Amino acid sequence: MVGVPVVLGVRRSAPVPVPGAPDAGAALVDGYGRVHRDLRISLTDRCSLRCTYCMPEQGNEWLARSSILTTDEIVRVAEVAAAAGITTFRLTGGEPLLRADIADVVSRLARITGPGGPVQVAMTTNGIRLPDLLPGLIAAGLARLNISIDTLDRDRFHRLTRRDRLDEVRAGIAAAAASGLRPLKLNAVAMRGINDDELCDLVDYAVTHDAELRFIEQMPLDAGHTWDRDAMVTREEILATLAGRWDLTPVPGRHGAPAERFLLDGGPATVGVIASVTAPFCGDCDRLRLTADGQLRNCLFSTSEYDLLPTLRGTDSRTVDAVLRACVRGKLPGHAINDPSFLQPARGMNAIGG
Ligand code: SAM
Ligand code: SF4
Repeated sequence: MVGVPVVLGVRRSAPVPVPGAPDAGAALVDGYGRVHRDLRISLTDRCSLRCTYCMPEQGNEWLARSSILTTDEIVRVAEVAAAAGITTFRLTGGEPLLRADIADVVSRLARITGPGGPVQVAMTTNGIRLPDLLPGLIAAGLARLNISIDTLDRDRFHRLTRRDRLDEVRAGIAAAAASGLRPLKLNAVAMRGINDDELCDLVDYAVTHDAELRFIEQMPLDAGHTWDRDAMVTREEILATLAGRWDLTPVPGRHGAPAERFLLDGGPATVGVIASVTAPFCGDCDRLRLTADGQLRNCLFSTSEYDLLPTLRGTDSRTVDAVLRACVRGKLPGHAINDPSFLQPARGMNAIGG
């Protein structure tokens, strides 16, 4: 095997060179001119909740434990990605805080430097373990947090996540609010007949925690393949509801970010809407995904993946850089959810990494 000679976990001032790779060090530009700067790293497909839009209640087919990337393997991929211009690692899952060595993962990723300087480490979490883990994560170098909360009602939360753990999520959000990590974002999937009467309450809750609520249109990524377009609350409906309560002023300078942001009554508080289905932002997409079992994906909705495990475990002579670039080259112009030929990926969101 032609390995990628990286020095693991060592603070550096310059990016790692990748000898032998013709494009080594060049930016990750796809066939449509999109430059990739954001790598979502899924640390596990396991979770402490069972959100209906993400996982089945029972019978989930878990990834084989032997296929889950070790921390050394994750760091190896991350170093090559940073050398190619990735500037943010977002840790996700499943629930990233279930990874036993999470502080070590954060600490090793936070020490990686790319051509533009240190890479930022962010995390999307359900918040449940934050009260215990947050101080250690901040000390390890965690820069930003997104925490998911879809309802403030305990019974609803129980039905929606199949777990009675709303108080723990709220404690996690309180811990994040009390920390210095900013901007703090709260994610909520808007669902008809489930939480669409709570949108303004969720925004109020976020504002009292010095956070931005970001509403996400529900996407066809549930493991049970039960997504129903008619049940999806659209961007337009979300904005109409919010506009009944606040004056919404668009925040300029979106710069390809997935969330369209608005000042609430002139600010400084803001709200965001991520309209992945009705107003896709694929033209500006700068993301790649690494699943917990070592598959590179160039889109949430990809039906094909680029397998890094053989490279990482010595049975494929291609370098990590070469597989990364093949993944970027294979990226389609858009996700085509709205196309009649759209096929939902086989993996549920928990195994892709949101
Ligand atoms: N467990 C963590 C959490 O819930 O924040 C991280 C993983 S979760 C897959 C990441 C984000 O994806 C969450 O904000 C969740 O609400 C969102 N998500 C999951 N399934 C979704 C779907 N079908 N449509 C839209 N968003 C979804
Ligand atoms: Fe778990 Fe997050 Fe999926 Fe909910 S959305 S089941 S918290 S991975």
